Amino acid sequence: MTSLWHYPRVPAEWRPAFRDYQRRLARQYAVLAAWVTLIMVPLFHVSDWWIDPVPQGFWGYDLLMRLPPLMLALITLWLHYRRPDGPWPRIMAITLGLTIMLMTTGLLVLHHLAGTEVTDLMVRGLIMTTAAVAIVATAGIRDLAVIYGIPFAGLLILLASSGTDSVTAMGLVIHPLMMAVIGCIIAEVLFISRVRAFNDRQKLHHNAMTDPLTGLLNRRAMEGQLQVEHARSSRHHNTYALVMADLDLFKHVNDTYGHDVGDEVLRDLAERMRASVRIEDAIARWGGEEFLILLRATGSEEALIVAEKIRRKVNEKAFYAGATTLPITISLGVGVVDGDPDPDEVIKRADQALYRAKENGRDRVEILEQASDGN
Ligand code: GH3
Ligand code: MG
Ligand code: MG
Repeated sequence: MTSLWHYPRVPAEWRPAFRDYQRRLARQYAVLAAWVTLIMVPLFHVSDWWIDPVPQGFWGYDLLMRLPPLMLALITLWLHYRRPDGPWPRIMAITLGLTIMLMTTGLLVLHHLAGTEVTDLMVRGLIMTTAAVAIVATAGIRDLAVIYGIPFAGLLILLASSGTDSVTAMGLVIHPLMMAVIGCIIAEVLFISRVRAFNDRQKLHHNAMTDPLTGLLNRRAMEGQLQVEHARSSRHHNTYALVMADLDLFKHVNDTYGHDVGDEVLRDLAERMRASVRIEDAIARWGGEEFLILLRATGSEEALIVAEKIRRKVNEKAFYAGATTLPITISLGVGVVDGDPDPDEVIKRADQALYRAKENGRDRVEILEQASDGN
């Protein structure tokens, strides 16, 4: 069980997927923040001088302060509809949050320095926005360092340089600063729980796609990859090859040495097969001791070479059960895509080639090149 205080990290191989997920989230939050800004900022502006006694002369100044967030909200919505896949979401979420904070700190400084009677109202406004912008900080404190850091630093500097005494200054900023601390905690806790949920989801996905004994892809995962490769090869008019491999007389190994030894052989075999293919190829445990290898962008000549390499890796280097050497060999059948409507046809051909390899004495590679060859 993970401790409450354990700080979760996304493993390196999942980081691109996590960045993608964070980008989608930042986009949603930026758009939400943009709509809230477009609706609430004008409402505050109207209520400030209808309901609260903001001096008449400040109507224009206040509006000027409120224009940048409104502009930024419009830009965010424009990007959302026109550049939905652009890299802007996190930057825009941070910039929008920052601009909103600058607006409310600006209003506070303006009214404080002008000595109007609504400074308190502006303090309340700053507290509210400090709480609200925590939502756009999709990377937690990292984002809030900018969103809160710049406005509060500016506020303190302006108060200090304007000769405001420290007691008055403290009275103005203490509650907004406390809200900022709460905002940091909320945003960071949300970020951490998102990382945890993401890692858990990835683990589930990984387990659903992997064969637990060998660590190879399972059948379902391979079926997905085959569909993708088949579509790609049809579009680009290039070929891919499938190798169906089945251990020879494996039942005998199990019967003689036991199932555990058989399992150990399967694990060792998986390693040997991994070492025989390129990183972009895929290997699946298709059935009990039957494996399907997808060789992307590969023709029959190359596929035969790879299949032969696997056969030799099994035949030439002994498998062991304790001190006993096991006589293990493997048969392989190759099928190459040839205008087939779907990958099942290619699988069938690799299977037929494997059957032929078994018939012709095992420990060998066979190929059925033409779609009609196996009939
Ligand atoms: P052939 O050369 O014709 O393939 O002979 P074979 O004995 O290998 O026949 P077949 O391919 O039908 O063998 C299936 C055997 O594979 C049955 C079973 O004992 C073994 N097997 C299947 N899955 C597992 C597994 O997960 N672990 C172990 N240890 N053995 C398995
Ligand atoms: Mg077999
Ligand atoms: Mg079999």
